[in-house]
Amino acid sequence: MTTVSNWGNYPRIDAQIFSFSDEDRLRSILTSSDTVIARGLGRCYGDSSLNTNIISTLKFNRFLEFDSTNGLLTCEAGVTFEDIVKYFLPRGWFLPVTPGTKYITVGGAIASDVHGKNHHKDGSFCRHLESMDIMLGDGTIRSCSRDHNKELFISTCGGMGLTGIILRTVFRLRKIETAYIKQRTERASNLQALMNLFEKYENEPYTVAWLDCLSDGSGSGRGVLIMGDHAGKTDIEGTRYETSPLTLPKKKNIGIPFYLPSFTLNRLTVKLFNEIYYRMHPTRMNYSLVDIDSFFYPLDSIRNWNRIYGRNGFVQYQFVLPKEKSKEGMETILNIISRKGSTSFLSVLKLFGKQNNSISFPMEGYTLALDFPIRRGLFHFLDELDSIVLSYGGRHYLTKDARMKKETFYAGYRTAHDFNRLRKEIDQTAKFSSLQSKRLDI
Ligand SMILES: Cc1cc2nc3c(=O)[nH]c(=O)nc-3n(C[C@H](O)[C@H](O)[C@H](O)COP(=O)(O)OP(=O)(O)OC[C@H]3O[C@@H](n4cnc5c(N)ncnc54)[C@H](O)[C@@H]3O)c2cc1C
Repeated sequence: MTTVSNWGNYPRIDAQIFSFSDEDRLRSILTSSDTVIARGLGRCYGDSSLNTNIISTLKFNRFLEFDSTNGLLTCEAGVTFEDIVKYFLPRGWFLPVTPGTKYITVGGAIASDVHGKNHHKDGSFCRHLESMDIMLGDGTIRSCSRDHNKELFISTCGGMGLTGIILRTVFRLRKIETAYIKQRTERASNLQALMNLFEKYENEPYTVAWLDCLSDGSGSGRGVLIMGDHAGKTDIEGTRYETSPLTLPKKKNIGIPFYLPSFTLNRLTVKLFNEIYYRMHPTRMNYSLVDIDSFFYPLDSIRNWNRIYGRNGFVQYQFVLPKEKSKEGMETILNIISRKGSTSFLSVLKLFGKQNNSISFPMEGYTLALDFPIRRGLFHFLDELDSIVLSYGGRHYLTKDARMKKETFYAGYRTAHDFNRLRKEIDQTAKFSSLQSKRLDI
């Protein structure tokens, strides 16, 4: 038994971890275990990949085929986004969609149907997925795509590992000319102004905003919109990157060596940080050329940054509200956060485009992600936020969740009952379950 937790360091459980590098070994693990769940790099925040029996996919991680005429990559599900960036970026290819960390596996990206800064234009990861092979609970392997075994395909995209173990996958990479992004930032003095910027720049390929969730009054929801587009060769002409356009600059990563005491992050320190960060950005549009790592993965440069929340861990609270209700709903939530004295160190706002999968999290509207250190009374406070999110027709991201109630899940995910039915049809063994699926009765 090993003590395991995911990125939020909550919950921590004792589990048996099995590993496989070929299908026969996986089959024998499956047929000799009770219930199991797949786990990649454990970058979901809560309990989606926790169970007393965990199957680690990290040794099932080979690139199998690449077609450079159309960018189709075939690989095993334990391949990480870091592996893909390392090998394919110097060859002029990048991920079609990427979350804010490259320390995730392809299997994890499909099971959470992850989104990036380009959801408003390109949808979530599974939109770029062509097909996959999945091992079911009885050890049989099924191939699926949008045309073949469609139910299995759509319920595995965003299905949180509950339909089977994703083995091999085929998805499309994006052609790029350089390892650089043309980045622009613009400051907004409140939530309405920030949303206006999102809409003004909706044709920009990548948009995301940092939001100051502690500002109040007329400055409530102030923030900085960050936009980006891939730089072409002509964009880096005359710069020091011109001679090696597809090479990422070498950088030293720093790390948080131990858990910080829980008082380090308090309302005062976060307010101070927010003030400095906001003022750092000029009022006018600011242009810079940044490398892909700095643009997409700023937090990856600080190893173990999750330790700043202390030994008790933290939860990331991410929800989405339908577009027409987003402003009112977010303002209500920001007011409550401000009034009740809760402090989120990191607050990130994104605009989603149309929903592309039935059980996936994104829907057309705004999504806000907030980090809360675990303290007495937090879960009660989040229950209160849950009911506001539901009252505006929103829902919560399963891959970030560690504490939501079953009623909240079913009220937010109207397709959950269909998902349950399909899952039962696909796999009668009921082998796949996580702490989360048990808590939510999925
Ligand atoms: C710093 C940071 C930033 C992030 N930013 C974003 C973001 O911008 N957008 C976003 O969408 N997400 C984001 N995430 C969340 C992250 O992308 C997802 O949680 C992702 O699923 C993690 O992948 P993983 O390989 O670590 O899988 P795990 O965390 O181990 O597992 C996640 C889920 O995938 C399932 N799973 C994993 N492998 C398989 C497999 N082979 N077969 C079947 N099921 C499998 C697990 O059972 C579980 O349900 C972020 C996380 C961090 C830590």
